[in-house]
Amino acid sequence: MKMLWGAVALTLACSAWISLSAAAGIIAQNQKYDIRDCGTFTDQVEVALDLRKGPLDAAINAAKLGVKSPHGFQAWFKDDAAIPKVTEILKNIQSMRGLRRLIPYPNPWIAQPPVFVCVNESTRQRYGTRLRRDPYEYCQQSGGFGLYLFGWKYIFLCDKLFTLRPAPLAPPLKNCPHVIGNRFTVPAEMGRLADFQTYVLIHEMMHFYLLRDSLGWNSIPKEAYASNVCVNFDMKTSLRNPMNLQYFVAMADNKCTEAPNPFLPPFPLPPPKVVEEEQRSNASVTIDVAFVA
Ligand SMILES: [Zn+2]
Repeated sequence: MKMLWGAVALTLACSAWISLSAAAGIIAQNQKYDIRDCGTFTDQVEVALDLRKGPLDAAINAAKLGVKSPHGFQAWFKDDAAIPKVTEILKNIQSMRGLRRLIPYPNPWIAQPPVFVCVNESTRQRYGTRLRRDPYEYCQQSGGFGLYLFGWKYIFLCDKLFTLRPAPLAPPLKNCPHVIGNRFTVPAEMGRLADFQTYVLIHEMMHFYLLRDSLGWNSIPKEAYASNVCVNFDMKTSLRNPMNLQYFVAMADNKCTEAPNPFLPPFPLPPPKVVEEEQRSNASVTIDVAFVA
């Protein structure tokens, strides 16, 4: 049996949902991607996807500057050698480029953009009888945001995603995290920066475009969410960890400028202790779960 590794990223967030129904009318129809089974949440997914353009433009412009970027490129990606890969992924997400050979086939040669599926009781029956794990069960048990199974065309969205706001409404800088002693010191600040629907969808799409290169529950190292663990990754690993991109996009979008220097103490951090120390907070916890399909 072919082994397929997937991951579910989940974040419990206390942010209140603010209706953007008024904004839905301005959304241009995008024929390239598909949204399925989302019912009354369909507009929210469209709004969140449409809102990706501003943050991605900000991130692409910042990425072009590399370590000279004031928005933390060095913290998240370490070196200017990462510029081509970071901009490539950002542009793929911006254009929703289609990929070939996604599961399920039938025609592996037709390039397909992601299909966003809201998870319910019948999701496994409809989309993944080959999945050993039930996405609905995972969404229910974990209260997660979403789930991506590496190599598949579907990005599954859990109900919990819709407890988040689509994108920051606060003025720039208001959601920015702070650095003390060359590290992010208040875990809850990272949730305040990054826990928005648009940013989470960008995270899931980074999994999609990295295919099997992205980190997950069973990768070595495991996918990481804690900000200082992300800073601690070397360049190569940073480029495989979607949270590094999510934080970078959020910082560029919010014009944040405070980020640690990954080449100065306390970095490198000792790995075993890091995971426990750097949990973001009870209000914003992210977990990854492996899938075998
Ligand atoms: Zn992830």
